[in-house]
Amino acid sequence: MGNIILTGDRPTGKLHLGHYIGSLKNRVRMQNEGNYDEMYVMIADAQALTDNFDNPKKIQDNLHEVILDYLSVGLDPNKVTFFIQSEVDELTTLTYYYMNLVTVSRLQRNPTIKTEIVQRGFEKSVPVGFLNYPVSQAADITAFKANLIPVGNDQLPLLEQTNEVVRSFNRIYGDTLVECEAILSEKEIEQRLPGLDGSAKMSKSLGNCIYLSDTSEEVHKKVMSMYTDPDHINIEDKGKIEGNMVFTYLDAFSNDEQISKYSEFSSLDEMKNKYKSGGLGDVKIKKVLYEVLEELLTPIREKRKYYEEHMNEVNTILKEGTIKAKSRANKTLKEVKKAIGIDYFE
Ligand code: ATP
Ligand code: MG
Repeated sequence: MGNIILTGDRPTGKLHLGHYIGSLKNRVRMQNEGNYDEMYVMIADAQALTDNFDNPKKIQDNLHEVILDYLSVGLDPNKVTFFIQSEVDELTTLTYYYMNLVTVSRLQRNPTIKTEIVQRGFEKSVPVGFLNYPVSQAADITAFKANLIPVGNDQLPLLEQTNEVVRSFNRIYGDTLVECEAILSEKEIEQRLPGLDGSAKMSKSLGNCIYLSDTSEEVHKKVMSMYTDPDHINIEDKGKIEGNMVFTYLDAFSNDEQISKYSEFSSLDEMKNKYKSGGLGDVKIKKVLYEVLEELLTPIREKRKYYEEHMNEVNTILKEGTIKAKSRANKTLKEVKKAIGIDYFE
């Protein structure tokens, strides 16, 4: 069997550096390596509604931001099928059958869900839809028989849940669904990029992001106000690298060639050593980070501008992709119903 790649994002905001380093970069690499039969990228609007049901406008507004982000980082509509989750009803039907295979306590034990429940203030009463989103994610993945999922490491417990559904389904109803594996970025720092504020994860919902569509001025402002080492007051002071977000981001985004281009140091290690021993100011290291990020973001902004001016083209890409995805998911739904024995009129 060949490779089927699938992944997606919630349209709860524009995509940020965490998405880029944790997932988008791998998607573009895999797209260009070409070692797959089909590649799908889904805008998970229905999932986004599970914790934003009272703010549908936010989801509507960001749907277009997310597709623009995809196209601007270099995902190619000739290679990738982009689709909107809520338009593919088959996914909801699959979710309904899979819900029987998962217990409430299993969902409550999911570490990602646990953290997100606290972040969203759902401890006292969690919406059923939100608790159930890992099951709907199992439907999203299995509907396309996807086996490779390029994601950040917060998704690992969710993919495990998907595979548990697959195993239960295949055991009870016969071999039908396919297990999947996460494709993670190499370095740990890339698998879960911390927020600008130093918190565990850069996340749209936490508002601690540099967005791929931020202007140069916005990026400059955000970098200049980044958290470094609170005890590093004067340039001569010895500085800490650990927990210093500027160095954390340099670890994730820079290479030594860039360090020597934008500073007097020939490598990031050399720059770190100077900071640790004293004599290197925060403004200087922030300038290097700013330049490194600008090198990444400038071409992305340019591509975005093109698509912003060609929204008809963008809408067609989404519409055609969604039709194709729907037809693929329908095929799996038929197999699933047949396996369960509820394909009465086939
Ligand atoms: P939300 O706060 O609405 O959940 P999010 O910022 O977590 O938004 P998602 O749409 O949930 O973004 O995530 C989409 C993909 O991007 C997932 O594969 C996720 O693992 C990855 N991702 C998100 N944030 C990061 C991050 N900070 N570092 C690495 N990968 C990330
Ligand atoms: Mg998330």
